[in-house]
Amino acid sequence: AGDHIQRVDTLETERALVSKYEAFVFDCDGVLWGGSHAIEGSLDTVKALRRAGKRTFFVTNNSSKSRRQYCVKLEGFGVHGVGVEDIVTSGSAIAAYVKLSHPDVQTVYMIGEEGLEEELEMVGLRVVKEEARPAPGMTEDEFRENVTDPEVGAVVVGLDTSFGFRQLCVASSYIQSGAHFLGTNPDVADRVGSLLMPGTGPMLTSIQTASGVAPVVVGKPNPLLIRQLMDQNGLAASKTLMVGDRLDTDIMFGNAGGVSSALVLTGVSEMSDVVGLQAGGDKTPTYLLERLGALLPAATE
Ligand code: PLP
Ligand code: CA
Repeated sequence: AGDHIQRVDTLETERALVSKYEAFVFDCDGVLWGGSHAIEGSLDTVKALRRAGKRTFFVTNNSSKSRRQYCVKLEGFGVHGVGVEDIVTSGSAIAAYVKLSHPDVQTVYMIGEEGLEEELEMVGLRVVKEEARPAPGMTEDEFRENVTDPEVGAVVVGLDTSFGFRQLCVASSYIQSGAHFLGTNPDVADRVGSLLMPGTGPMLTSIQTASGVAPVVVGKPNPLLIRQLMDQNGLAASKTLMVGDRLDTDIMFGNAGGVSSALVLTGVSEMSDVVGLQAGGDKTPTYLLERLGALLPAATE
């Protein structure tokens, strides 16, 4: 089982992979780092690939930091010269999506962290966050007058660790009044030790349950992002490799975008997840690589 996935585990196969692709698109958490600690060999490999003249891009479903903050993070790990145009976060993607698909929208109601706000403001959107508190027993007229802003044309939701009932109430009201409902990423949870800690997914689900409307979600595995990245940078599908740690987001994303994909085992998906995958399946990677750092010798030559 899993025989149709090419194992990259010898210098020969590593060299073949590095020489075959001109552009490398990296998922961040689980490939380059886990939270704040670097995954051994990964950032040296990114640097070596860049020195070897490869084009590198970074795609993350994390909306809590802006692309500018990601540049700073990469700098901190010694990867210099990466520009915001080489990075896509689910926050920058949702900002671009609003401008492109809903050009009439100028004001958004945001649930999310500062990094998301920065990306939305960078494309010229006015960002409204909840301030007034819906009081129990308020009439609809009182609610509309005191709590909501008639200019809001879309509700934009990313991970927000202060998410609560007030925001649920206000978001649901905007959506019922006709505002578009947009989510940054579908990630249900991250594993923290033996526990699953909630991601953006359950926030979106609660707003969907409250409002009766399903969100449009722009983050991986939505192939919108990879198509945008390829169009904007003139990347050829046959020369582009997506590297990720999750079959259900990163690998699916690469496959849906028509590029090759490599799964690394330094993050969420494990060897046991790979075994039953069918050839040509939407979550089946082209390559299996223990870790990104395995490419370092081949990238350094
Ligand atoms: N969203 C949040 C809030 C996260 O903390 C993470 C990982 O740390 C992710 C999404 C997934 O990020 P990535 O797409 O880089 O794996
Ligand atoms: Ca990841």
